[in-house]
Amino acid sequence: MTEPRLFVDQDLLANQPLTLTGNQHHYLAKVLRLGAGATVKLFNGRDGEWRAVIDHMTRQGAEMELTEQLRPQTPEPDLWLLFAPIKGKRVDTIAEKAGELGVSRIMPVITHRTVVSRVNVDRLRANAREAAEQCERLSVPEVTEPLDLRSAVGAWPRGRTLLFADERASATPIAQALQSLARESARPAAVLIGPEGGFTNEEKELVRSLADCVPVSLGPRLLRADTAVFAMLALWQAHQGDWRGGDAGWPD
Ligand code: SAM
Repeated sequence: MTEPRLFVDQDLLANQPLTLTGNQHHYLAKVLRLGAGATVKLFNGRDGEWRAVIDHMTRQGAEMELTEQLRPQTPEPDLWLLFAPIKGKRVDTIAEKAGELGVSRIMPVITHRTVVSRVNVDRLRANAREAAEQCERLSVPEVTEPLDLRSAVGAWPRGRTLLFADERASATPIAQALQSLARESARPAAVLIGPEGGFTNEEKELVRSLADCVPVSLGPRLLRADTAVFAMLALWQAHQGDWRGGDAGWPD
């Protein structure tokens, strides 16, 4: 059996005792039926990845000790995903795939044509965390509370490129836009995808008014919002992020 891999809040230091409680304890004790002597991998987004050995499995928790650091913490691409929440399970899939595709922050944004009335942020967080545990990344994306598009644009941090997926517009083809950006040094970036009904003209003008906005086209076919998210994230990782291999140029 492969070693379970869990995200924890606690600091991870050599020979440190640590107890996992709650859902993580239940998962190790009842679902996986692990006991003393079994090992698990732990990460917290700060101290790299560690192996821990279970000393005691009690009714209250899984008591373990950290034995070795398996990987040091390394810098990860600084990529945000802004997306208008969509209906049903596809919104959970977006959080899961964003976790796998190396997004650092997931931001649900409410637009004029967003039809979802309530966003289950806790479920998005759980999906993003499980994806990070499974895909072996060393951090978990932050998932923010939903905010409206106007507020997101109003608070836009200077210098963060916003790749705006602008359907039905004469926007720059995505490959061309990413090739131009790749000539610059690594910059923080974000991608913005609209709802099923698309953006209003006013919203498009608002987003385009940002100095850091780069409107892009994803080709001649109208993609579903979740497809557009996955395509944009994969293309960005290949051109600007850690799919390029070697030193992707991310600062410590
Ligand atoms: N109902 C809209 C329309 O008819 O124009 C389409 C919205 S589309 C289903 C959802 C989102 O995916 C869009 O707002 C956009 O951000 C993105 N998207 C889909 N296809 C795209 C394309 N070919 N180019 C750029 N963005 C696209």
